[in-house]
Amino acid sequence: MELVSPQSNPNNFPSPILANSSATPSRYENQKRRDWITFCQYLRNHRPPLSLSMCSGAHVVEFLRYLDQFGKTKVHNPTCPFFGLPNPPAPCPCPLRQAWGSLDALIGRLRAAFEEHGGRPDGNPFGARAVRIFLRQVRDFQAKARGVSYEKKRKRPKQKVAPPPLVDATAATGASILTMPSALLNEGMKF
Ligand SMILES: [Zn+2]
Repeated sequence: MELVSPQSNPNNFPSPILANSSATPSRYENQKRRDWITFCQYLRNHRPPLSLSMCSGAHVVEFLRYLDQFGKTKVHNPTCPFFGLPNPPAPCPCPLRQAWGSLDALIGRLRAAFEEHGGRPDGNPFGARAVRIFLRQVRDFQAKARGVSYEKKRKRPKQKVAPPPLVDATAATGASILTMPSALLNEGMKF
C-alpha cells in the first residue's frame, strides 16, 4: 500500500486549475490525487492530532465545514431579502460557501481514494451516514437559499435539459474546490 505523504512531497500541493468542460478520466484521477493529498495535509494539521485510521464521518463533516471559507457560491441566509432568488438584483452580505455539487463530487473522489490507499470499504469515513446526512442538508438548504433545484431530471430523456443558471462552474465540471494556498493549511486550522 502506498500512502501519499504530503510532508515528504511538499511541492505536490493542489494548485488552482482552470475549469474546463473536458472531464477526461485522467483529469478525474489527477483531481482525486490532489484531493487526497489535501485531506492528508488537513489531518496532519489537525488539533488534536488525527490519523486516518481514527477518522470518522464526523471528522469528514468537520473538513467539509472547514472548506466553506474557500467557497465561491453565495448562499443567502433565511433573513436575507434575496433568500430563494436565483438572480438577486443587488449585492448582499451573505457568506460564500462551497456549492453542494462541489462537495458531493469531492466526497465521491475521496471515498474512492480512501479505498485505493488501503482503507477498508466498511470503514470508509467518506461513506459514513453522518456525511450523507450532512450533504443532503447542504443540498436542501442551498436549493432553498439559492432558488435552484438539484433534482435529477431523468424522467424526460427526450427533452434536452439546460443546466440551472446559477450552478457554478466548479460544480458543473467537477473542478477542484481545493485550491486554497498551502500557507493556509500550514498555519494550522482555526476551529
Ligand atoms: Zn443574501
